[in-house]
Amino acid sequence: MKGRCLCGAIEVTTPDQKEVGLCHCSMCRRWTGGPMHAVHCGSDVQFQGKTPTAYRSSDWAERGFCPDCGTHLFYRLLPANDYVLPAGLFQDQAFSLATEIFVDEKPSYYALSDSTHKMTGQQVFEQYAPGN
Ligand SMILES: [Zn+2]
Ligand SMILES: [Zn+2]
Repeated sequence: MKGRCLCGAIEVTTPDQKEVGLCHCSMCRRWTGGPMHAVHCGSDVQFQGKTPTAYRSSDWAERGFCPDCGTHLFYRLLPANDYVLPAGLFQDQAFSLATEIFVDEKPSYYALSDSTHKMTGQQVFEQYAPGN
């Protein structure tokens, strides 16, 4: 699937994905202004055009954005070179909302569909911790 930033300086290509996960963690909400609508894309992600600017947001991850328009382009787990991209980059894709994570960090002023699989931050760390 193909996506692009707001100004069009950067395009991104990844294998087709169908599922969106919402991340309610405090960092994603500060970064995006709300929960991150996240699409897990693996390592096979190519950016064309300008080079995204990367911000090292933790010991294990960085977050990328367009240097011209500021559109958020990726969250990358450094040890695995694993990309999570915002669903909004891909506006022609028929996604469905599958999961919500860091539900324990979600503020009370919004709530979404109850049909998703929900995990607390602790459950996420336990499932994805190195060695599991
Ligand atoms: Zn841009
Ligand atoms: Zn998050």
